[in-house]
Amino acid sequence: MERLTGRTALVTGSSRGIGRAIALRLAREGALVAVHCSTAREAADEVVASIEKDGGRAFAVQAELGVPGDVHELFLQLEEGLKERTGGTGLDILVNNAGVMGGVAPEEVTPEQFDRLYAVNARAPFFIVQRALKNMSSGGRIINISSGLTRFANPQEIAYAMTKGAVDQLTLHYAKHLGPRGITVNSVGPGITNNGTPVFDIPEAVEQMAALSVFNRVGEPQDIADVVAFLAGDDARWITGSYLDASGGTLLG
Ligand code: NDP
Repeated sequence: MERLTGRTALVTGSSRGIGRAIALRLAREGALVAVHCSTAREAADEVVASIEKDGGRAFAVQAELGVPGDVHELFLQLEEGLKERTGGTGLDILVNNAGVMGGVAPEEVTPEQFDRLYAVNARAPFFIVQRALKNMSSGGRIINISSGLTRFANPQEIAYAMTKGAVDQLTLHYAKHLGPRGITVNSVGPGITNNGTPVFDIPEAVEQMAALSVFNRVGEPQDIADVVAFLAGDDARWITGSYLDASGGTLLG
């Protein structure tokens, strides 16, 4: 059964990796999905084509986040795409997924790197939510992709983890603020997830990463997409302000 028929969704950073899987999954559930990218327009178009091939509905939007005017540009395209296909600009599901990682030792993080991480991972989601509230009504769903690194120390990713801590605060406080409007806000925290980058082609590296999960494998984008699809649907109506650990038990130590 298609649980999201008649709903509209924006998934930021859905040209590849986890976001791509989320876009495909929400579309499979019947949602009209705005597939967002920064620079990889061809990849976003491919995601749209793949959704359409399976009988779903989607369109691409392109806007670099973390730069002046980012949210304005994103919503110009989003509203145009929604209007064309639905006759309105209503948005039911927002997934703040786009993000950049750090991978820099604490001693070496520069103020520029720090600011960039915050601009893309924390500042942009805040202002996307603020703007999306003009389009969202009762029953709306906001899902923020956080990280297990908010609860599992890895000094190489200290600045990145701080941005995801900020995302969890975004979830907590907006959940309270938006409850009276019937909108839920939740965080999903993936552990190491195969996003197709070259490190996942190195068997020894994969083995080490897999050992962090109690299931002894790395996460697949679909593992995260399934959790997001649950939160986006009616079955999750009583869950808000939560952090859903989607790390395959990595946090169990
Ligand atoms: P990828 O690096 O595979 O994809 C990132 C996506 O975000 C792409 O669609 C990219 O667009 C978009 N993006 C990146 N920077 C910007 C920007 N400045 N403006 C707009 N869009 C941007 O990411 P993952 O799938 O690995 O991660 C997705 C989310 O999950 C992120 O928030 C990440 O922090 C989080 N996460 C990932 C984990 C993992 O192990 N993979 C673990 C825990 C959390 P484009 O293709 O155009 O560049």
